[in-house]
Amino acid sequence: MRRRHFLSALAATASLPPALGAALARGRRAADVYALVLGSVQDAGFPQVGCYTARCDAGRALMDAGRGRYVSSLALVEPAAERFYLVDATPDITRQLDLIAEPGFRRRAAQRRPFDGIFLTHAHIGHYAGLAMLGREGMGMQETPVYCSQAMAGFLASNFPWRLLVDQGHVALRPLAFDQWHRIDPLLEVQLWKVPHRDELADTVGFVFRGPEASVLFLPDINAWSLWDRQVAEVVAGIDVALLDGTFWSLDELPGRTAAEVPHPLMTQTMDALQGVVNRKEARVLLTHLNNSNPALDDGGPQQAEVARRGFEIAREGMRFGL
Ligand SMILES: [Zn+2]
Ligand SMILES: [Zn+2]
Repeated sequence: MRRRHFLSALAATASLPPALGAALARGRRAADVYALVLGSVQDAGFPQVGCYTARCDAGRALMDAGRGRYVSSLALVEPAAERFYLVDATPDITRQLDLIAEPGFRRRAAQRRPFDGIFLTHAHIGHYAGLAMLGREGMGMQETPVYCSQAMAGFLASNFPWRLLVDQGHVALRPLAFDQWHRIDPLLEVQLWKVPHRDELADTVGFVFRGPEASVLFLPDINAWSLWDRQVAEVVAGIDVALLDGTFWSLDELPGRTAAEVPHPLMTQTMDALQGVVNRKEARVLLTHLNNSNPALDDGGPQQAEVARRGFEIAREGMRFGL
């Protein structure tokens, strides 16, 4: 982002040689690549089905007001090239895609090729069940690459109804190896990091996306930072924006359970682990994938105030990060 400001300032102040001017123009276009938050809550959504607590009713009110919160997901948008990617396909996919405001996206959708690729983290319902809406009964999407781990690709290829999406040509599975950069297009690279999670059907990955100017880490589910083969503070310090598992706030919302049983890090633990990174402004850290029991969903509540005071953020639909 710093380089972008430099380029804008340079372009505004000088009459430039044509070659440099063209290069800067290209640079500005590249800088327009962005990640867009399409959702920020846990797999089962907010409100959750059959849940009539005050918190879930507040979620209903947000939905009715057109400011609904959806299951954690991102879009990656390259406006000049009219390229679009989806990161996790959630049960909220229908309304989430409405958040992609680029006119080119609607043209692409009308042609049943809305995405240049779909990235999937793992086989829990909030992260891939939205694929069902893209098959014959829904959009009837055409030959769209699905990027995921080898195990996830194997799961989709061998289990109905997902196998139908492959057999009928709606998706084309593109498994990617862990821990190395893969170039997806001239403006986008991705790396898959394996993370420990409840892997009943396949495995779980976090994605690092790298654009011309910045990187974003999308890691909505992990059992515990301490079980990971990476040091979370170290890796987050090396990227620009991290969207991390913020499922639970504290053990108070899980009566009768101990920290060892909770299959997600608590928000407070995540902030403790990354406080130094945030204090040194090495990365923006956003918490996502909030469960309907998490009091940090309460707008204006003390938990949101604490997150802000500590220099962290909570992901909200419509947020953009330049890549
Ligand atoms: Zn999840
Ligand atoms: Zn999960």
